[in-house]
Amino acid sequence: MTYKSALMGAPIASHLDPQIRAREGIKTRQIKISISTQTQIANLSDMILVEQMNNALEGGQKIYRVLRNSRLNKLMVETTTDEAATWLKNEGNLKNFLTRIEIQGDLKPRLHNIIASFVPTTFNLDNERHLSEFFETNKIDNDSIVQMCWVKPIERRRKDQVSAHLIITTNKAEIANELILKSVFFCNYRVTIEKCKRDPLRCLKCQKFASHMVHECTEHNKCGTCRGAHMTNGCAEQNKKWCVSCNSNNHSSWDRDCPTLTRKIEEFDQRNLENSLPFFPTAEPWT
Ligand SMILES: [Zn+2]
Ligand SMILES: [Zn+2]
Ligand SMILES: [Zn+2]
Repeated sequence: MTYKSALMGAPIASHLDPQIRAREGIKTRQIKISISTQTQIANLSDMILVEQMNNALEGGQKIYRVLRNSRLNKLMVETTTDEAATWLKNEGNLKNFLTRIEIQGDLKPRLHNIIASFVPTTFNLDNERHLSEFFETNKIDNDSIVQMCWVKPIERRRKDQVSAHLIITTNKAEIANELILKSVFFCNYRVTIEKCKRDPLRCLKCQKFASHMVHECTEHNKCGTCRGAHMTNGCAEQNKKWCVSCNSNNHSSWDRDCPTLTRKIEEFDQRNLENSLPFFPTAEPWT
């Protein structure tokens, strides 16, 4: 099964908190498309684009709004109904639809990050045999894992380090939930899996908690360790600390114990209620 078929909308279960259900409901009506060629849509206003899309779909209003990121060639289409979203998430239907509005593009999968704690460092992500053993032992379809990467770069490991944390990115909420539930084997070691909670966004250039990322940042470089005018990984004053958010020298901007981070996480979880759930919401009643 490909991620495209897996994306075919699953109903959001009635057991969930109404606010989470509403938010997840909206997400299932959102279709993310990566555009491969820039076309004339760049010159259209959102309103006109929505109108053209609705004409291409025929039979009534189905598209509620579009969001575009032209620089990253991303397009998000939100439909008015679950049925319209399910229809659009079908590969063939989407292709026809995009052709009609003269866009070349593909569905972008919704990704789910989980974290494997204390994975033996003998597990080598570049070793084909390790990888195939991992997929086989754990009965995971390797199409469903998009990426695996160590939380900390290998070169920063201590010499005697025997285990490390690994982030696994999957394109199926069901797979993520299954792994959280049953745990996973790496080189014959049983490893527990947890959902990666999403953190409030902190810009790695200006170090502020903000709604922008590095590539959108208009401020000067500030070091996450010492606030100096350089990149964090080029810091020559590792012993000097300064937190930009707290304006304090008792910790660095990246410190997990930063009181501003704690407060921001609380606010973030209030706005993103599903973040506090141990599983990714699906139609399964236990999620
Ligand atoms: Zn910034
Ligand atoms: Zn520095
Ligand atoms: Zn702080």
